[in-house]
Amino acid sequence: MAILNILTYPDKFLKTITEPVENIDESVVKLIEDMAETMYENSGVGLAATQVGSDKKILVYDISAEREKKEYQVLINPEIVSSEGEYLSEEEGCLSVPEYRANVKRSLSVVVKALDRNGQPLTIETEELHAVVLQHEIDHLNGILFIDRISSLKREIYKRRVKKHLKNK
Ligand SMILES: [Zn+2]
Repeated sequence: MAILNILTYPDKFLKTITEPVENIDESVVKLIEDMAETMYENSGVGLAATQVGSDKKILVYDISAEREKKEYQVLINPEIVSSEGEYLSEEEGCLSVPEYRANVKRSLSVVVKALDRNGQPLTIETEELHAVVLQHEIDHLNGILFIDRISSLKREIYKRRVKKHLKNK
């Protein structure tokens, strides 16, 4: 297994709209394992393929309390088929948006359809934190970062900070 490099804002690849996985071959299995390893190594709750430079519709996440077990979830070609309510998430963070957190307006509950790592269809109905993680990661697969969902004022402040930081490098 390999630890992959995580792309960070303003890397343009993070805007990539991913392609559905047609078949779960060896390269897909390896990508999934590497993504999971990368997520744990960076203490992330979830990771989407775009964050490691792949345009495949794949995400992994682990919101369990016992992360050392590394029993992560894999969703292939996930899609939100319905959502309900409004939920202001706890301050969200993202491995691709380092050193920044913000509350984000999310749906309270979602229904997600996807394939599991064996290509079997599954449906997840969930709410609150679990639903926020799914919305955050599925956003990545559509080229959207959580900072695209905060107020433009807050976003400008963050962008200015990154620009300054890059200049000083
Ligand atoms: Zn993220």
